[in-house]
Amino acid sequence: MNKKGKLFVISGPSGVGKGTLVTEILKRNQNIKLSVSVTTRFPRPGEKDGVNYHFLTKEKFQSLIDNNELIEWAQFADNYYGTYEKVVNEVLEQGYDLIVEIEVQGALQIKSKRPDAVLIFILPPSIEELKDRLERRRTETAEVIAKRLAIVDSEYAKKDRFNYQLINDRLDASIEELENIINKERFINA
Ligand code: 5GP
Repeated sequence: MNKKGKLFVISGPSGVGKGTLVTEILKRNQNIKLSVSVTTRFPRPGEKDGVNYHFLTKEKFQSLIDNNELIEWAQFADNYYGTYEKVVNEVLEQGYDLIVEIEVQGALQIKSKRPDAVLIFILPPSIEELKDRLERRRTETAEVIAKRLAIVDSEYAKKDRFNYQLINDRLDASIEELENIINKERFINA
Protein backbone atom coordinates (compact mmCIF):
# COMPACT_ATOMS: atom_id res chain seq x y z
CA MET A 1 0.00 0.00 0.00
CA ASN A 2 1.34 3.39 -0.94
CA LYS A 3 1.31 5.66 2.10
CA LYS A 4 0.70 9.35 1.43
CA GLY A 5 2.96 12.02 2.89
CA LYS A 6 1.93 14.52 5.53
CA LEU A 7 1.60 18.25 4.98
CA PHE A 8 3.30 20.54 7.53
CA VAL A 9 2.58 24.27 7.47
CA ILE A 10 5.19 26.37 9.24
CA SER A 11 3.96 29.89 9.85
CA GLY A 12 4.34 32.93 12.09
CA PRO A 13 5.48 36.55 11.84
CA SER A 14 8.20 37.71 9.48
CA GLY A 15 11.63 37.56 11.16
CA VAL A 16 10.67 34.85 13.64
CA GLY A 17 13.19 32.38 12.17
CA LYS A 18 10.91 30.08 10.16
CA GLY A 19 13.41 29.82 7.32
CA THR A 20 16.33 28.84 9.56
CA LEU A 21 14.28 26.21 11.37
CA VAL A 22 13.01 24.73 8.11
CA THR A 23 16.52 24.61 6.61
CA GLU A 24 17.74 22.65 9.63
CA ILE A 25 14.82 20.23 9.52
CA LEU A 26 15.40 19.55 5.81
CA LYS A 27 19.11 18.90 6.39
CA ARG A 28 18.28 16.24 8.95
CA ASN A 29 15.34 14.59 7.13
CA GLN A 30 15.78 13.39 3.57
CA ASN A 31 12.14 12.31 3.32
CA ILE A 32 10.78 15.79 3.81
CA LYS A 33 10.49 18.14 0.83
CA LEU A 34 9.98 21.90 0.76
CA SER A 35 7.49 23.66 -1.49
CA VAL A 36 9.03 26.54 -3.46
CA SER A 37 6.51 29.37 -3.39
CA VAL A 38 5.67 31.88 -6.10
CA THR A 39 6.02 35.57 -5.33
CA THR A 40 5.83 38.98 -6.96
CA ARG A 41 8.51 40.44 -4.68
CA PHE A 42 11.96 41.19 -6.09
CA PRO A 43 14.76 38.73 -5.29
CA ARG A 44 17.10 39.72 -2.46
CA PRO A 45 20.82 39.56 -3.16
CA GLY A 46 21.82 35.89 -3.35
CA GLU A 47 18.29 34.58 -3.87
CA LYS A 48 17.82 32.30 -6.87
CA ASP A 49 14.77 31.88 -9.06
CA GLY A 50 13.36 28.39 -8.67
CA VAL A 51 15.32 27.79 -5.45
CA ASN A 52 14.20 30.40 -2.92
CA TYR A 53 11.07 31.34 -4.83
CA HIS A 54 9.66 31.35 -8.33
CA PHE A 55 9.81 35.11 -8.94
CA LEU A 56 6.88 36.22 -11.10
CA THR A 57 5.25 39.36 -12.47
CA LYS A 58 1.89 40.45 -11.02
CA GLU A 59 0.23 39.49 -14.31
CA LYS A 60 1.60 35.96 -14.23
CA PHE A 61 0.64 35.63 -10.56
CA GLN A 62 -2.90 36.77 -11.38
CA SER A 63 -3.14 34.14 -14.12
CA LEU A 64 -2.19 31.43 -11.58
CA ILE A 65 -5.04 32.66 -9.34
CA ASP A 66 -7.48 32.77 -12.26
CA ASN A 67 -6.56 29.24 -13.31
CA ASN A 68 -6.93 27.89 -9.75
CA GLU A 69 -3.33 26.74 -9.70
CA LEU A 70 -2.64 27.92 -6.15
CA ILE A 71 -3.78 26.01 -3.06
CA GLU A 72 -3.40 29.29 -1.13
CA TRP A 73 -2.18 32.77 -1.78
CA ALA A 74 -1.98 36.04 0.14
CA GLN A 75 -0.93 39.62 -0.14
CA PHE A 76 1.75 40.39 2.41
CA ALA A 77 3.41 43.80 2.84
CA ASP A 78 2.71 44.91 -0.77
CA ASN A 79 3.68 41.64 -2.44
CA TYR A 80 1.83 38.46 -3.37
CA TYR A 81 2.88 34.97 -2.31
CA GLY A 82 1.37 31.60 -3.15
CA THR A 83 1.78 27.82 -3.22
CA TYR A 84 1.29 25.58 -6.26
CA GLU A 85 -1.47 23.05 -5.59
CA LYS A 86 -0.10 20.57 -8.13
CA VAL A 87 3.29 20.41 -6.40
CA VAL A 88 1.64 19.79 -3.02
CA ASN A 89 -0.48 16.96 -4.46
CA GLU A 90 2.38 15.34 -6.33
CA VAL A 91 4.85 15.33 -3.44
CA LEU A 92 2.30 13.93 -0.99
CA GLU A 93 1.17 11.27 -3.50
CA GLN A 94 4.79 10.17 -3.87
CA GLY A 95 4.79 9.48 -0.13
CA TYR A 96 7.05 12.35 0.89
CA ASP A 97 6.16 14.71 3.69
CA LEU A 98 6.02 18.32 2.60
CA ILE A 99 6.76 21.58 4.43
CA VAL A 100 5.25 24.84 3.27
CA GLU A 101 6.71 27.89 4.97
CA ILE A 102 4.14 30.64 4.62
CA GLU A 103 2.46 33.57 6.35
CA VAL A 104 -0.62 33.23 8.53
CA GLN A 105 -3.51 33.96 6.11
CA GLY A 106 -2.22 31.34 3.67
CA ALA A 107 -1.72 28.82 6.47
CA LEU A 108 -5.39 29.12 7.44
CA GLN A 109 -6.51 28.73 3.81
CA ILE A 110 -4.62 25.43 3.71
CA LYS A 111 -6.27 24.34 6.97
CA SER A 112 -9.72 24.90 5.51
CA LYS A 113 -8.88 22.96 2.33
CA ARG A 114 -6.83 20.23 4.01
CA PRO A 115 -8.00 19.66 7.58
CA ASP A 116 -5.35 16.95 7.92
CA ALA A 117 -2.51 19.46 7.44
CA VAL A 118 -0.46 20.11 10.58
CA LEU A 119 -0.18 23.83 11.31
CA ILE A 120 2.70 25.08 13.44
CA PHE A 121 2.87 28.71 14.56
CA ILE A 122 6.37 29.96 15.40
CA LEU A 123 6.52 32.75 17.98
CA PRO A 124 9.45 34.99 18.96
CA PRO A 125 10.41 35.18 22.66
CA SER A 126 9.06 38.76 22.57
CA ILE A 127 8.02 41.48 20.12
CA GLU A 128 11.22 43.42 20.97
CA GLU A 129 13.29 40.40 19.99
CA LEU A 130 11.32 40.08 16.73
CA LYS A 131 12.02 43.72 15.91
CA ASP A 132 15.73 43.24 16.64
CA ARG A 133 15.88 40.17 14.44
CA LEU A 134 14.22 41.93 11.51
CA GLU A 135 16.61 44.85 11.87
CA ARG A 136 19.69 42.62 12.24
CA ARG A 137 18.72 40.70 9.10
CA ARG A 138 19.28 43.89 7.06
CA THR A 139 17.31 42.51 4.14
CA GLU A 140 14.48 45.06 4.36
CA THR A 141 14.22 48.83 4.50
CA ALA A 142 12.88 50.54 7.65
CA GLU A 143 9.59 51.07 5.83
CA VAL A 144 9.21 47.40 4.97
CA ILE A 145 10.15 46.36 8.53
CA ALA A 146 7.48 48.74 9.88
CA LYS A 147 4.87 47.20 7.56
CA ARG A 148 5.80 43.69 8.65
CA LEU A 149 5.68 44.61 12.35
CA ALA A 150 2.35 46.40 11.95
CA ILE A 151 0.58 43.13 11.15
CA VAL A 152 2.09 41.05 13.97
CA ASP A 153 -0.90 41.67 16.29
CA SER A 154 -3.37 40.41 13.69
CA GLU A 155 -1.13 37.39 13.08
CA TYR A 156 -0.95 36.62 16.82
CA ALA A 157 -4.74 36.84 17.01
CA LYS A 158 -4.95 33.75 14.77
CA LYS A 159 -2.38 31.60 16.53
CA ASP A 160 -4.94 29.52 18.48
CA ARG A 161 -6.23 28.11 15.20
CA PHE A 162 -2.91 26.33 14.73
CA ASN A 163 -2.26 22.76 15.90
CA TYR A 164 0.99 23.72 17.62
CA GLN A 165 2.73 26.86 18.87
CA LEU A 166 6.47 26.93 19.28
CA ILE A 167 8.51 29.74 20.84
CA ASN A 168 11.74 30.12 18.89
CA ASP A 169 14.11 31.14 21.66
CA ARG A 170 17.22 28.92 21.56
CA LEU A 171 17.69 27.59 18.04
CA ASP A 172 18.90 24.08 18.93
CA ALA A 173 16.00 23.56 21.36
CA SER A 174 13.51 24.86 18.78
CA ILE A 175 14.85 22.51 16.09
CA GLU A 176 14.47 19.59 18.46
CA GLU A 177 10.96 20.61 19.43
CA LEU A 178 9.92 21.02 15.79
CA GLU A 179 11.47 17.70 14.86
CA ASN A 180 9.59 16.02 17.72
CA ILE A 181 6.28 17.45 16.49
CA ILE A 182 6.98 16.29 12.94
CA ASN A 183 8.01 12.79 14.01
CA LYS A 184 4.98 12.43 16.24
CA GLU A 185 2.57 13.55 13.51
CA ARG A 186 4.24 11.40 10.85
CA PHE A 187 3.51 8.27 12.79
CA ILE A 188 -0.06 9.13 13.70
CA ASN A 189 -2.22 7.01 11.36
CA ALA A 190 0.94 5.42 9.97
P1 5GP B 1 9.76 37.10 2.54
O1 5GP B 1 9.43 38.26 1.65
O2 5GP B 1 10.44 37.54 3.82
O3 5GP B 1 10.52 36.01 1.81
O4 5GP B 1 8.37 36.44 2.96
C1 5GP B 1 7.38 37.20 3.57
C2 5GP B 1 6.35 36.30 4.19
O5 5GP B 1 5.68 35.56 3.17
C3 5GP B 1 6.97 35.25 5.13
O6 5GP B 1 6.16 35.18 6.30
C4 5GP B 1 6.90 33.98 4.33
O7 5GP B 1 6.79 32.83 5.15
C5 5GP B 1 5.62 34.20 3.57
N1 5GP B 1 5.49 33.34 2.39
C6 5GP B 1 6.45 32.76 1.65
N2 5GP B 1 5.91 32.00 0.69
C7 5GP B 1 4.58 32.06 0.85
C8 5GP B 1 3.46 31.45 0.18
O8 5GP B 1 3.59 30.66 -0.75
N3 5GP B 1 2.25 31.76 0.63
C9 5GP B 1 2.03 32.61 1.67
N4 5GP B 1 0.78 32.82 2.04
N5 5GP B 1 3.04 33.19 2.33
C10 5GP B 1 4.30 32.92 1.92
